[in-house]
Amino acid sequence: MNIHEYQGKQLLRDYGVAVSNGRVAFSPEEAVKAAKELTPGIYVVKAQIHAGGRGKAGGVKIAKNLDEVREYAKELLGKTLVTHQTGPEGKEVKRLLVEEGSDIKKEYYIGLVVDRATDRVTLMGSEEGGMDIEEVAEATPEKIFKEVIDPVVGLTGFQARRMAFNMNIPAHLVNKAAKFMLGLYQVFNEKDASIVEINPLVVTGDDNVLALDAKFNFDDNALFRHKDIVELRDYDEEDPKEIEASKYDLSYISLDGNIGCMVNGAGLAMATMDTINYYGGSPANFLDVGGGATAEKVTEAFKIILSDEHVKGIFVNIFGGIMKCDVIAEGVIVAAKEVGLEVPLVVRLEGTNVDKGKALLNESGLNIIAADTMADGAQKIVELVG
Ligand code: GDP
Ligand code: MN
Repeated sequence: MNIHEYQGKQLLRDYGVAVSNGRVAFSPEEAVKAAKELTPGIYVVKAQIHAGGRGKAGGVKIAKNLDEVREYAKELLGKTLVTHQTGPEGKEVKRLLVEEGSDIKKEYYIGLVVDRATDRVTLMGSEEGGMDIEEVAEATPEKIFKEVIDPVVGLTGFQARRMAFNMNIPAHLVNKAAKFMLGLYQVFNEKDASIVEINPLVVTGDDNVLALDAKFNFDDNALFRHKDIVELRDYDEEDPKEIEASKYDLSYISLDGNIGCMVNGAGLAMATMDTINYYGGSPANFLDVGGGATAEKVTEAFKIILSDEHVKGIFVNIFGGIMKCDVIAEGVIVAAKEVGLEVPLVVRLEGTNVDKGKALLNESGLNIIAADTMADGAQKIVELVG
């Protein structure tokens, strides 16, 4: 689960991690009111969407006075911001963060991730902040430093200071930077985050070390023990299809392609996507209906696939182990009849009750193309979609 920058900054504030003073606003009036509560001077008006790259896309405005705050707030609210992370359709701005402007001397990068190679939370830092860290990693990987954190001991002061030195933080600010990192790790750890990225972390003219941006991602599997985090969820920022899927406990991720996939088991779902790609197609989604799915769950899953206007064909690839093929067939038939099936449907069934499942599909009157193997099915759907 992701949260907005202003929510992330509040979380940091709660843990004593330095951020600039700021308030959220939903209208130009609120933006002005928010600015009036801040120290007078330069203000920054920032679009709040769940995507980065706002700076380059015109989503971060520097206002010299309250009139400019109002002007920029009017301009940004309701605007569809297209950044390199939103995709071409962009995201509508519905909230703003109004902040006190900072006198930036230098921008750095600091982040925490769960590194799967070492099974450890890893602190990453660089003096190349403000820009895409992926670009830095590509062009000058030697400028990214890492500290692997022992889960028992946690991030140590020694590691934090070493990171600050490696990042070339001015010597007299190393302790402030280290305190920042220790606080950041504490939030990350206690809130079960999976990513936190501060880009940029800045050193200011008055010798402060603070977060100008904050990106958090939380481990969904730990949300049950963080009611406060769950409350921060903003459904406006999420794919409606994914929200619908989560209601039925389906693992669904919307993708860019045009072949809808319904599969059971994450491994088979990944393999199906790979096979479709191999034959030159492109999946519209990842969908794992799970092991013990009911006909109702399958119906909902199928409806979600059909609701995606990009879908030009559907590939159902089921291995019935715990899952029974006839249950899948039933769900597909109910959903197709309810919503109407206007795109080609290729079905490959194997395993428990396969004959029963195939019989149901044959008798349904639906236009279904049967496939014998996964490769056969993938090839057929790719051909049909063209
Ligand atoms: P992102 O582009 O979505 O990652 O948004 P950021 O929050 O990182 O802001 C982008 C850029 O705006 C930063 O790298 C800064 O250069 C600039 N910026 C943000 N806040 C301030 C501020 O308080 N003062 C100044 N001068 N620039 C700011
Ligand atoms: Mn940023």
